[in-house]
Amino acid sequence: MDFALTVEDRDIRDTVRRFVQRELLPREPEFLRRERSGEPGLPHDELAELQRKAREFGFWGLATPAEWGGMDLPAMLQSLVTTELATTCVPFRFGGAADNILFAATPAQQEAYLRPTIEGVRRGCFALTEPGAGSDARAISTTARRDGADWLINGQKTFITGGHEADYAIVFAVAEPGITAFLIDREQGWTSSPIPTMGSWHEPATLFLDDVRVPDSAVLGEVGTGFELAMRWIGKGRHTIAAQCVGIATRCLQMAVSYANTRETFGRTIGSNQGIGWMLADSETELEAGRWLALRAAWDADRGADARHAAALAKLYCTGMVGRVVDRALQIHGGLGYTRELPLEWWYRSVRVMRIFEGTDEMQRMIISRDLLRGHSRIGGHLAHP
Ligand SMILES: Cc1cc2nc3c(=O)[nH]c(=O)nc-3n(C[C@H](O)[C@H](O)[C@H](O)COP(=O)(O)OP(=O)(O)OC[C@H]3O[C@@H](n4cnc5c(N)ncnc54)[C@H](O)[C@@H]3O)c2cc1C
Repeated sequence: MDFALTVEDRDIRDTVRRFVQRELLPREPEFLRRERSGEPGLPHDELAELQRKAREFGFWGLATPAEWGGMDLPAMLQSLVTTELATTCVPFRFGGAADNILFAATPAQQEAYLRPTIEGVRRGCFALTEPGAGSDARAISTTARRDGADWLINGQKTFITGGHEADYAIVFAVAEPGITAFLIDREQGWTSSPIPTMGSWHEPATLFLDDVRVPDSAVLGEVGTGFELAMRWIGKGRHTIAAQCVGIATRCLQMAVSYANTRETFGRTIGSNQGIGWMLADSETELEAGRWLALRAAWDADRGADARHAAALAKLYCTGMVGRVVDRALQIHGGLGYTRELPLEWWYRSVRVMRIFEGTDEMQRMIISRDLLRGHSRIGGHLAHP
């Protein structure tokens, strides 16, 4: 096991770090001001300009294969880049990305959905969850019924990230012989309604599908393989979430250390009190544990191993870890931490969802314990059993 970075790897990480420092950190006050006034995110023209600059730096399509013009970075480097970007609350992602399962599309679907998504001219959403089926995703009840050469889709999807802005949806429905994924344009008849939540990061929506008629060519992959596609999409997301948690916790701990070294009470810095020092020490210990779990999951993916167990460990631990680190950093900042001038309050609200979506804490525990009990995973994995 070797986590040493090559010179090229370090260059990539350091370039992203400089991009964050020069381009994103100066925009934090504006982002927070907009958020306070109910306009989350940055203006579209500013985001487009940032995308242009990032592309000049060579950053476009981190996970996108080279034949589609992307960087096709290994999972380990994607994880490091994601961590760097997450050290700022400015919600910026490099362009040129598309849902991993769209690469399983037919050539015609790739031209209609994959290419325009990579180019940033179309926006999709991933619609699996329903009012009656979240963790138990196999229990979805949206139906796809054959009607002549077409399919008729009926049902409701909920908590769909970006569902109110998307112009197409990857919809999972029960068909004969099993769950099937469909690519459905908004113009084909689905509607949406936004759902207010405690964060402003992943704005979810409910989607309504009422006798939506789509041709057979809307099926993504094979009929009956939708559940496997959904799990492939979610598996990728767990790596990204773990890496984001590491970035957020890193920044929060940096802020906490800096404030603990400068804020004075009773004639000395607050950091000189053991009560504060322990909060810093616990945060650093947990952050490092999370960093290694996130990298371990990425390393498993890069060497072609089944990374699901490692990804569950990383998601479960990192999403809890970031909540504790943000909470301590906010506590160390006292009243200032509770204001909406600093990103701490925003992170405090925003990171909570990471323990819920793409598999709740309880689902990660279910995966981990089931793997152990069935002997799919040995305690300590390949590290303890060479
Ligand atoms: C902001 C946001 C964005 C989202 N984005 C998307 C998206 O883009 N696409 C999409 O399809 N979905 C999305 N989701 C949905 C998300 O994946 C689900 O909310 C999540 O899977 C949990 O499902 P649920 O809310 O129905 O909770 P439930 O499944 O009803 O669970 C309720 C509680 O019971 C626990 N629980 C359930 N079963 C068990 C068990 N067997 N043992 C122990 N505990 C159990 C759960 O862990 C949870 O704590 C999003 C959700 C949110 C909040």
